[in-house]
Amino acid sequence: MLRENTPTLTVIIPVFNEEECIQETIKRLEVVRECMHDKAELEFLFVDDGSQDRSWQILSELTIDSKHMKAVSFARNFGHQIAVSAGIDMASGDYVAIMDADLQDPPEVLQEMLALAMDGYDVVYGIRRSRNGDTLFKKKSAELFYRAMSYLCEIDIPKDTGDFRILSRRVVDVLKSMRERHRFIRGMIPWVGFKSIGYEYDRDIRFAGKTKYTLRKMFRFAFDSVLSFSLKPLALVTRLGIIVVLSGLFGAAYMLYLKLFTDVPVAGVTATILTVIIFGGVQILLIALVGEYVARIFDEAKGRPLYVIAEKRNI
Ligand code: UDP
Ligand code: MG
Repeated sequence: MLRENTPTLTVIIPVFNEEECIQETIKRLEVVRECMHDKAELEFLFVDDGSQDRSWQILSELTIDSKHMKAVSFARNFGHQIAVSAGIDMASGDYVAIMDADLQDPPEVLQEMLALAMDGYDVVYGIRRSRNGDTLFKKKSAELFYRAMSYLCEIDIPKDTGDFRILSRRVVDVLKSMRERHRFIRGMIPWVGFKSIGYEYDRDIRFAGKTKYTLRKMFRFAFDSVLSFSLKPLALVTRLGIIVVLSGLFGAAYMLYLKLFTDVPVAGVTATILTVIIFGGVQILLIALVGEYVARIFDEAKGRPLYVIAEKRNI
């Protein structure tokens, strides 16, 4: 029997073409739910991010006669971060967990993570002690990405983390009020603050299927995260501008000196053309960078909803 004050834990699971994984994921989640029943009441909230395979069909069937299985589907693929955000909007639990559908984040560790959360930590984030399934390229690019982010952002983003974590209700409520379009959830959470703690776990290999984060999606995510989270690129550009202007002035003064006070011939057209080309390129890059920020303002100004819901089950 459930005690009256048993807290509820909503587990958000974003799903994109995971027909091979879902059933196994649910099976393992159900076991965890059984094990934890005296500590917390678990409910599962699946967000189908516009799957093209049978994922939604499977989810619809499974939610029919279940109270603790909830599901919602998007009208198209909006991306992992948006799917998680929709989950955060709709989760009703006292605690909220975010977990991938491919069993790379083992559901069993939710028990210990929830214990930490109930001890008073508002954010319990999973730290990847090992990353079994990931390729060397993924590991290296992730490392580089985290190093760049920690340099570029004022906010401390813990290394070797993903979105696998448990949040308290008050963190979730703040997150719900943050409506920016270009979302980098693992940076938004430390921005909110509160007490947080890492929990080390071994990241498994994907249960089945292929990664849904294609190289293109990964790069866009990295690029987007930096630009939506940091104004430092603009500050760096200002510094670069100052250096370029100063060296230009210095060069001009030097050539003027050569021309007026010595017989040394001043270098010809080649140098001039090279300079023009190089700085022309630099200028294009800088304008493009400013453009990236303007584009983001444009995107935000439209004020469109973050996602479009097609269907809901048990919500
Ligand atoms: N996912 C999603 N929308 C997307 C891409 C991925 O909802 O556009 C989900 C996917 O189903 C999985 C989670 O996000 O549950 C993480 O994706 P994946 O395992 O492919 O990424 P990886 O672990 O390789 O970084
Ligand atoms: Mg995965």
